[in-house]
Amino acid sequence: MTQSEWLVKLPLLQSVIKKKEVIWCNPLVEPVAAGLLKTNLSKDDIADASDRLERFAPYLAKVFPDTDKGIIESPLTPIPKMKQELETVHAVNIPGRLLLKQDNALPISGSIKARGGIYEVLKHAETLAINSQLLDYAKDYSQFDTPAFRELFAKHKIAVGSTGNLGLSIGIMSAKLGFDVTVHMSADAKQWKKDLLRSKGVHVVEYIDDYSKAVEEGRRQAEADPSCHFVDDENSTDLFMGYAVAGERVAAQLKEQNITVDQAHPLFVYLPCGVGGGPGGVAFGLKLAFGDHVHCLFAEPTHSPCMMIGMMTGMHDQVSVADFGLDNKTAADGLAVGTASAFVGKTMEPFLTGCYTVEDQTLFTLLKELADSEDIWLEPSALAGMIGPVHGIKSKLPFADFKDATHLVWGTGGNMVPEDEMKGYYNHMRK
Ligand SMILES: *Cc1c(COP(=O)(O)O)cnc(C)c1O
Repeated sequence: MTQSEWLVKLPLLQSVIKKKEVIWCNPLVEPVAAGLLKTNLSKDDIADASDRLERFAPYLAKVFPDTDKGIIESPLTPIPKMKQELETVHAVNIPGRLLLKQDNALPISGSIKARGGIYEVLKHAETLAINSQLLDYAKDYSQFDTPAFRELFAKHKIAVGSTGNLGLSIGIMSAKLGFDVTVHMSADAKQWKKDLLRSKGVHVVEYIDDYSKAVEEGRRQAEADPSCHFVDDENSTDLFMGYAVAGERVAAQLKEQNITVDQAHPLFVYLPCGVGGGPGGVAFGLKLAFGDHVHCLFAEPTHSPCMMIGMMTGMHDQVSVADFGLDNKTAADGLAVGTASAFVGKTMEPFLTGCYTVEDQTLFTLLKELADSEDIWLEPSALAGMIGPVHGIKSKLPFADFKDATHLVWGTGGNMVPEDEMKGYYNHMRK
């Protein structure tokens, strides 16, 4: 179909191409039980990932002491002052409570990528250790921090294409294990991320093109080398499962805080979305943990709504934002993706409540408001979820009616950002 035919079929696209902030409700959303019949992925896959992360805990505790005994998890923080700020500024009442999932504070790499990215590297390392009969089943996994393991991994390569944060996770974890690791970085990747990776012995290859090109080039080079494992951000079930473990972790944290999730107390979750793996995996894990009482929305920049366009049209990776005249230029680095993952889009079809878009200016305003009200510092991308409750309520989605709802904003990154860089974001308003 041509662009003008799509505009007739899906009138919301008329606002999308004008770069307006919009919200789209997914007409294909179904009860979780029905949705699970349409995917090969299941609760068992998440349990397998969760068990593997447990096995690696003694190793991670040893090499990354800032983890919680080797478990990579982030705080779940009530943000009542920010809620008040949103209510005042946008003249809405947000019924229920507002929580922030602080993946900005995840150990090792300070973003949501510390979930999926690190998990995939660990799984690959485990497979290699088993295949070469190096793993001693009588001992715990702190054995991965020994010369024999590092020598094995030095003979193997890992590669990834990234706008930044995935590269940080894969690079830092792989280098620590002893792998020969290369990160293919798109033009929009920040200099400090490249510098940091190089300081850890990671090879960084720079491209003048966008994310898709960096991934494509990385994939091509890795395919030519049988000793190279390519972390495929667009198609990896391992990444997806690493993210999905977040579902049971959030369930435990809510329980600890005596917060109920059921029919009368639904959970609304707002997740910044780039290629889709992070938010998709987390949403999948949440759906399995809370069933039909959780409702997930993806948030994208107005210039890069690849998942929204892909799911709306049902064309997934066969359409790009450029097909609708959008330039894919945004200050939200992790979200500057023109084509969504088809694997994630198709998997999420029965599970996702909807998508909405956010202007860059909104991200900077929210960044400052959150810093001022709660003294929590997120990177611009990570703020895309914050406007979700406002958008949802203003567009009169039925979920505004629940006075005992929990609104959970996924804060996807921030702690690795250097202070002067962060100050620049904060002062962006005054430029
Ligand atoms: C990667 C990233 C996202 C989105 O994850 P995808 O898997 O690309 O959809 C959101 N926020 C931040 C800070 C990220 O680094």
